[in-house]
Amino acid sequence: MIGDRIQQARKASGLSMRDLAQKADISAMAISKYESNKNTPSSKVLLALSKALGVRTEYFFRQAKLELKDVEYRKHSALPKKVLQRIEGDVIEQIERFLELEEILPNNPIIDFSLPEGISSNIESYDEIESVANSIREDWGLGFNPIPDLIDTFEEYGIKVFQSLMPHDEKFDGLAAQINGTPVIVVGKDWPGDRQRFTLAHELGHMALHGRISSELDEEKAANRFAGAFLVPSREAIKELGESRSWLEPAELHALKHTYGLSMRGWIYRASDLGILNQSSARKMWTYFYQNKWVKTEPGKQLQAEEPKLFKQLVFHALAEDLIGESKAAELLHMPIINFRQLRKVGSSEQEAINK
Ligand SMILES: [Zn+2]
Repeated sequence: MIGDRIQQARKASGLSMRDLAQKADISAMAISKYESNKNTPSSKVLLALSKALGVRTEYFFRQAKLELKDVEYRKHSALPKKVLQRIEGDVIEQIERFLELEEILPNNPIIDFSLPEGISSNIESYDEIESVANSIREDWGLGFNPIPDLIDTFEEYGIKVFQSLMPHDEKFDGLAAQINGTPVIVVGKDWPGDRQRFTLAHELGHMALHGRISSELDEEKAANRFAGAFLVPSREAIKELGESRSWLEPAELHALKHTYGLSMRGWIYRASDLGILNQSSARKMWTYFYQNKWVKTEPGKQLQAEEPKLFKQLVFHALAEDLIGESKAAELLHMPIINFRQLRKVGSSEQEAINK
């Protein structure tokens, strides 16, 4: 309802009803009636309100409360509902700030997500998923190379990525949803990079495969197969490992993990999916991994976590174009203005990072 939006914008701008009345040259009584949806403002009034509140008129027509649609948690039952709701609330708040920023930018540079045409609508085997992953890679111009920054790539192709800042334990395994038709994926901020990347690729797998796979296939397994194939195309896997192996050295897997951003375990799955390891060799590998307790935490240097960059970049874009001021930029980035000013002085904050 328009009234809720007016109220939300007024509160966000820190104005009282009376302040707004004065700024927009409308009576406080009228504003009260609009906000309680007892009266609908004319377009002339809406224009005055939008100017006074510093929002575009479209802002008032957006849904008052964002709702995540088609929410999919990777592990549905593991987390208590209360925790899920808090994660959702945290993410919705981040999304609202993102959408607010998008409205401020006159030429929204974000493209709409779409899948390449020609993905088979009737996928009957897990092996067919390889070509689905390849066709998205081709569509995105990725070739067969390792993808250096997966969050950046997703953002470039219209998938919004957020990090859950909520404290959570191992049980939260990512979330995918739709918001106003835009796909949204949430990963844990403190996860190792390979876990974030696998979750991202897995969720892309759901988007690409949902409704297209035969009922004989398990969608979770299919999304996992997609994730492996997307991160390491079969051609590359064979190039790296060879056609047939009976054992993979942990140090070899560790190096490959850091090249492709796929976990060591992911590589074992990949090798068995592609028949590079036969069943008994794969079993030997898994036993070795379990014995060394490498299933939960892999040995060696962890892969660095990735971070969404688009939002921050757009905030600076809006600031540079004088579409927003420093205090609005700080508000959008959810940080005190002092911190924002430091962030703005790139050199000094880099120096700080080096001194750490
Ligand atoms: Zn899934």
